[in-house]
Amino acid sequence: MMKESLRIQELSNAFGPSGLEDDVLKIVQKEVKEIQLERDSFNNLSGVLNPKNHGPKIMFDAHMDEVGLIVQAVKPNGTMTFLPLGGQAASNFVSASYKLKNKKGEYVHAVVASKPPHFLSEIERNAAPQVSNLVLDCGSTSKEETEKEYALGIACFGVPDVECKFDEKKGLFYGKAFDDRIGVAAQIEVLNQLSKAKLPCQIQASFSTQEEVGERGVYANYKKLQPDVLICFEGCPADDTFQEPWLIQAGLHKGPMLRHFDVTMITNPRFQAFALDLAKKHHIPVQESVRSGGGTNAGRIHMEGVPSIVIGVPVRYIHSNYSYCALDDYQAAVQLGVTLAKHLTKEVIQQF
Ligand SMILES: [Zn+2]
Repeated sequence: MMKESLRIQELSNAFGPSGLEDDVLKIVQKEVKEIQLERDSFNNLSGVLNPKNHGPKIMFDAHMDEVGLIVQAVKPNGTMTFLPLGGQAASNFVSASYKLKNKKGEYVHAVVASKPPHFLSEIERNAAPQVSNLVLDCGSTSKEETEKEYALGIACFGVPDVECKFDEKKGLFYGKAFDDRIGVAAQIEVLNQLSKAKLPCQIQASFSTQEEVGERGVYANYKKLQPDVLICFEGCPADDTFQEPWLIQAGLHKGPMLRHFDVTMITNPRFQAFALDLAKKHHIPVQESVRSGGGTNAGRIHMEGVPSIVIGVPVRYIHSNYSYCALDDYQAAVQLGVTLAKHLTKEVIQQF
């Protein structure tokens, strides 16, 4: 378990905004022991665990990218305007600390400038923040200094500068990017655990890119692997600190969440019921949800006629810079993935 919690921490800390997932790729390639994963020009990774198995093809997917930002322009005073990468509230950026990758490939620290209250007008004080009014400050005093000495400028990417911590007693992770690094970690562990199992199906691995900007990378992996069934591992938004108790559908320590519905997919009811039944039989805790928002790689791929489900590890304050997720939920997600792989026979899949 020590090894897995260190792996989760390493994945959470990795720099991997949509489009620049390279550091995450390296960790995945190091940690997936039994598959020689291939990289494509999208920076997706894919491979097959047991290519000699002629059973149905099960594609596991987790996306490697995280929400972040991209520098738009440098102002004469050296600060930088930026655009969000992936869906984030503008309030999320205010006073936050970021790690930017500069033109030399080094990581440079910057903060989102916050005007001191001393200088705020009454109107400014009460206004909701807008990304177009915010700037990043690396500490420079001019455009020349930002560009030459810090090697920062147009199209530099950034992610929150947050260090993952694991509270062993509570079994709780604190950090950034659990969407979807906790899913990436779960998928790595599932693949490693399945490497010696006798299986009724072929296991395909997809570690995809650019999910947060519109489920882009996964499509290339789907075309390459041509799966019969898709299982996505996700970090999904926990709702247990917002919702009325009767409406909590993704609480911490209650197991992974399986969505029946989100705005991009009505989950195949037969596959969903099979997964829920199997979880029950094997005493794996799960939660069910009907989501009024959301969207995942499954939303994209199910439209190709591939029955798809999403196993989501609840993450509190997802798409913000600081979040929590629980080790026990991750473990249950792994257990469910492994158990599904052992039971997805040709006959079962035909009924989906
Ligand atoms: Zn995600």
